[in-house]
Amino acid sequence: MKKCYLLFAVALFSGWLHAQQTIRRCGTVEYVEQMMAQDPSLAGHMEDAEDQLQQALRDIQYNKTEAAVTTIPVVVHVVYRNSLDSLSDNRIQSQIDLMNKIFSKAYADTVSVPANWKSLVVDTKIQFCLAKQDPNGFLTNGITRTKTSTNMFFSSSNDVKHTSTGGEDAWNRDKYLNIWTCNLGGGLLGYAQPPGGNAATDGVVILYTCFGNPGTLSPYDLGKTAVHEVGHWLGLKHVWGDDSGACTGDDLINDTPNQAGSTYGCPGFPQTDNCTNTSPGYMFMNYMDYCDDGCMHLFTKDQSTRMGGVLNSSRILVKISNPGCTPGVNGISVIHGDEELDIFPNPNTGGHLSVSLPGDFQGTVSLSVFNLLGEKLLETKKTCNPSDKILLDMNSFEGGVYVLQARYGDYFFTRKIVLDK
Ligand SMILES: [Zn+2]
Repeated sequence: MKKCYLLFAVALFSGWLHAQQTIRRCGTVEYVEQMMAQDPSLAGHMEDAEDQLQQALRDIQYNKTEAAVTTIPVVVHVVYRNSLDSLSDNRIQSQIDLMNKIFSKAYADTVSVPANWKSLVVDTKIQFCLAKQDPNGFLTNGITRTKTSTNMFFSSSNDVKHTSTGGEDAWNRDKYLNIWTCNLGGGLLGYAQPPGGNAATDGVVILYTCFGNPGTLSPYDLGKTAVHEVGHWLGLKHVWGDDSGACTGDDLINDTPNQAGSTYGCPGFPQTDNCTNTSPGYMFMNYMDYCDDGCMHLFTKDQSTRMGGVLNSSRILVKISNPGCTPGVNGISVIHGDEELDIFPNPNTGGHLSVSLPGDFQGTVSLSVFNLLGEKLLETKKTCNPSDKILLDMNSFEGGVYVLQARYGDYFFTRKIVLDK
């Protein structure tokens, strides 16, 4: 009888624990499986990305001198319902700062890496900035804020990644790392789209309570979830190889020991299992395991090399073609041909501005005026015949410099307007 009571008490206690605690769960593996089920071509694309990566890794082997730092522009899409999940700019910056410290081997907790693995901690030469230039060349702080009526988002639908479903559309993944923060459901702290996936859904999603340093969800409140998910985005797999306890799974990294399964909490060193049964055991403090934030301490040398390889293959465009970390050029578009949009008079004394569209344009054009902070002050749509001129009333504007943007179809022009008042 006593035994029964004891079992009942244990069951109650474990139920209470389950209700009180969130354990780390990353949805990346399930997410990729879902995407593959929806899109039969995805598996091939991801294999192509891996092939390109392997080629890049062979090239890196032959060319070990590459030491330049790659800085990846980041846009953080804050999809919020209320003041709790509308994260402050400072909290967002704290996440970027933490990633930069960790990726450059400058984070203090590398002292906690066991002595036998300390030499594996390296500067990855990968850094991050909150984007300073948006996809149209305008100044930005690298943060979008979208109020949503969706109470909870799920990886299976990817709704947070689309404006049409209560989230926010991705910025061009060839120029930015997209990070969404939201109230993520399904018991997940985050999920990532590894190399080879679709452009419209590329990036990582983080449960807002785990985002920033500090966040609010103990023991996952030190910003390590985003570090883990960005690791996936840069091609890293879970350190145990996602093989559910077997020793056959492979994280494709040579300097991480074989490991049976994920690790939780904050275990003491060393830990061994049936895949690595002698000291120093398996590397539970790796960022690609599941320990508490305070007990994750390293990416290894080979993990660093693999991430660098991704930036030299499937994600090379984000490495070489972006201006995102340099300030937007105050609205002057990076797209050529802006001079074809004729505006008169410019400088303007604050009356009407006459806008002539290029060529024989006929149809509806959207005109917007921005200040140099990228804030939209005026937006109007006009339907034009060839050679029509559009008059914009600038009377209500104070003196200064503004940017006119005209869009029609796939065409996009910007011109600087000077108001002399
Ligand atoms: Zn993961």
